[in-house]
Amino acid sequence: MDCPEVVRRLWEYLDGELAAKEAGAVRLHLESCSQCRPACHCDRAFLLLLSRSLRASAAAPSTLAASVRARLWPDAQ
Ligand SMILES: [Zn+2]
Repeated sequence: MDCPEVVRRLWEYLDGELAAKEAGAVRLHLESCSQCRPACHCDRAFLLLLSRSLRASAAAPSTLAASVRARLWPDAQ
């Protein structure tokens, strides 16, 4: 799994929506990749909060998550 793939899946990973095998691959990458690890640690708490509030609000447009993600990781889009 490469960096853009990890960043794409990070959202689902943090949200607990990945299958165990994929979550393991993301976790493994984050543990070994100095490029992704800081981004994950910095944004983890924020993303967790955000993803929960997005999911809790049925009215939140799905594009909001994508636009937030684009701001956090413009290179991964
Ligand atoms: Zn990486």
